[in-house]
Amino acid sequence: MNSMKAWKSLGRVVGVISMVAGLMLNSAKAGEWVAGDFHQHTTYTDGSNPFATVMRKNYEYGLDWWANSEHGGAFATDAFGPALKNGFDTGAFARFWDSPLAYVPGTILGSVSVNGNHTNMWRWQSIRDFSFRDVLMARGTYYLPIIQGVEWNVPGHEHCSVAILGRQFNTLNPNAHAVAQFEYLFDGKDSDSIGGLAQGWAGKNTNNNHAKAVQAVRWLQRNYSNTSYVVFAHPERKGQGDTNYVGTGSHGYDIRDFRDFNNAAPNVCFGFESMPGHQKENPRGGYTPIAIGGGTFGGCGAYAAKVGGLWDALLGEGRHWWLFASSDFHSTDASGNPLSDTLMGANTADKAWADLWFYSNPVFVMVR
Ligand SMILES: [Zn+2]
Ligand SMILES: [Zn+2]
Repeated sequence: MNSMKAWKSLGRVVGVISMVAGLMLNSAKAGEWVAGDFHQHTTYTDGSNPFATVMRKNYEYGLDWWANSEHGGAFATDAFGPALKNGFDTGAFARFWDSPLAYVPGTILGSVSVNGNHTNMWRWQSIRDFSFRDVLMARGTYYLPIIQGVEWNVPGHEHCSVAILGRQFNTLNPNAHAVAQFEYLFDGKDSDSIGGLAQGWAGKNTNNNHAKAVQAVRWLQRNYSNTSYVVFAHPERKGQGDTNYVGTGSHGYDIRDFRDFNNAAPNVCFGFESMPGHQKENPRGGYTPIAIGGGTFGGCGAYAAKVGGLWDALLGEGRHWWLFASSDFHSTDASGNPLSDTLMGANTADKAWADLWFYSNPVFVMVR
């Protein structure tokens, strides 16, 4: 385990994202540590806490910036609820999108999707119309750069954390329409065929395979090359298969995939989570024996942990390929304590080092 190497680069790369938010973070200068998290869940998807609680915890743990980034697809509840001061809650106040007490009938747009007795809302809509509104409220409360992202169901694969800054920080009419459009067009679990079309988002490819994933990052490179990022989430977790190239199933990533994405979108796809979230889970990181490497090594996935392994190979090809860590926070137990996840911030190793390289990186230079 080349931990020194991994941690050194980890710190530098988290700085990429922290500096993306640097437009609101005057304190983040070269040579300073900043702490952030770009991957966490609420009851908008499969998390167990309301949005406001997670925002408050991020603040209490001392993060300098963060991004809400949770699953694409369709889900039945909102993320309403109070921000508890001294603990987590269980999401008991979340409301169903189809509840007439909470929402006017007809609020849900697009193709009909159901979950048991309830109608889902597509994530493109909940991101655009509700989650980003909560992001703006959190910014107004904590005066920190808070970003709207999405955990992309990558066609043919598993997950990536994605954000498009777009107009999120516009002074007039800030919005997350670009993130919503990306989710509608390219998320592997968004099968809405009409809702996004009504927004003018034409060109949805319904073949959920590796080729569509590459098409998606090419779209980002073309439209948001300096204001978006794609970070591969828990890249070893799913195991590995060769059938991702024939368009069936959902498989883990191998080095060919990273090359494909990096070739198609070098300004957008430049790294993966070497330290996956769920660090409290057993097995650590949620990496069961089917994961590449059979588990984690000191919490680090095999792609970065192995000396002379995949990460070194990518660097050897001259690629700018960085390592990231996130919380992937989802859950609390009955007493309100984090169950299998820890939010970033409690661990000093989560601090990110902002150095001069990041000041020259186009990802954030364009948005500062
Ligand atoms: Zn995931
Ligand atoms: Zn996640």
